[in-house]
Amino acid sequence: METIIKRVDINNIDNNIIKQAGNILKEGGLVAFPTETVYGIGANSLDVNAINKIYEAKGRPSDNPLIVHVSSKQDVQKYAKKINYTAEKLMDEFWPGPLTLIFEKRDIIPDNITGGLNTVAIRMPSHTIARSIIKEADLPIAAPSANISGRPSPTMAEHVINDLNGKVDMIIDGGYCEIGLESTVLDVTDTIPTILRPGGITKEMLEQVVGKVFVDPAIKKSNKNLIPKSPGMKYRHYAPNANLFVFSGASNKVIVHINELIKTEQEKGNKVGVIATKQTKEMYYCDDVIVIGDENKPDEIASNLFRVLREFDNKKVESIYCEAFSNKDIGSATMNRLLKAAGNKIINID
Ligand code: AMP
Ligand code: MG
Repeated sequence: METIIKRVDINNIDNNIIKQAGNILKEGGLVAFPTETVYGIGANSLDVNAINKIYEAKGRPSDNPLIVHVSSKQDVQKYAKKINYTAEKLMDEFWPGPLTLIFEKRDIIPDNITGGLNTVAIRMPSHTIARSIIKEADLPIAAPSANISGRPSPTMAEHVINDLNGKVDMIIDGGYCEIGLESTVLDVTDTIPTILRPGGITKEMLEQVVGKVFVDPAIKKSNKNLIPKSPGMKYRHYAPNANLFVFSGASNKVIVHINELIKTEQEKGNKVGVIATKQTKEMYYCDDVIVIGDENKPDEIASNLFRVLREFDNKKVESIYCEAFSNKDIGSATMNRLLKAAGNKIINID
């Protein structure tokens, strides 16, 4: 398949391109577009064949359900039942934005989008290009991250082109994704909501609006007996080609340890890389150090994570070493993705 690639300026949106994207979606095709979290691969949520094409293009396991993207709050009641007061308050506060809500689904939502669950995930993105396309298509749009399953999520059009060129009808290049990590997934089917996947909207932000919020225990512990309520969380995700090792402990000790590993690997002739912060970059004796951001700016670190993992793929290193980041604010989502990319291992240096 020939993929149409079009650049759209977020400050001066070309409506002809948006129309073309909308038509492709109406006809059951696939369009990849930017959102404020990561790039998504869009299809009509109500069209079983279009949904199957997403699973095929991504190589995604069919039990990993998709998020339905809408362009207005009013649309939610068309697809969800029993929208409680907590959900209403959260939509008023955080939509449009990086918060996905899980509701009981209506029959109009096909089973292949929910992996057979009787619930549906819905989000209203804030990115103007994403919302214009959804509005133009006049459909609920399923849009999982536009990467091959298991690879780091795409935060630039270049990442999407690398993974999906020839597999989708159209790719809209709208520049960088500001947040760079996927949405928070929150189950609002009970009175007290539960976080199923940490993301751009943190537990603290949610609790300020609705009081107590639970966190699915399967997120925090890599305990194989706990089955995550969000099916996608059980897969190894976001993985670069190299082996990624994450170290926690006092920063000076971690740096000494990583430098020893670099030396040992280089003596064996292996190419290795380090993910450093602005503060630590000068402390590593390694040719391939990539700075992820300022250690005091968790948003910056979050937005660069997936891009840095992909850059190491281009450098063809065999191992990547990285210090653990703070769990504060969006840091909990960053650490969740980083640990998944590292196969859920964290190595403590005492
Ligand atoms: P992605 O589309 O790659 O951002 O992944 C969507 C995430 O939302 C995955 O972790 C899914 O498991 C989760 N998700 C989607 N629908 C549901 C649902 N009905 N119940 C629980 N989690 C869901
Ligand atoms: Mg994904």
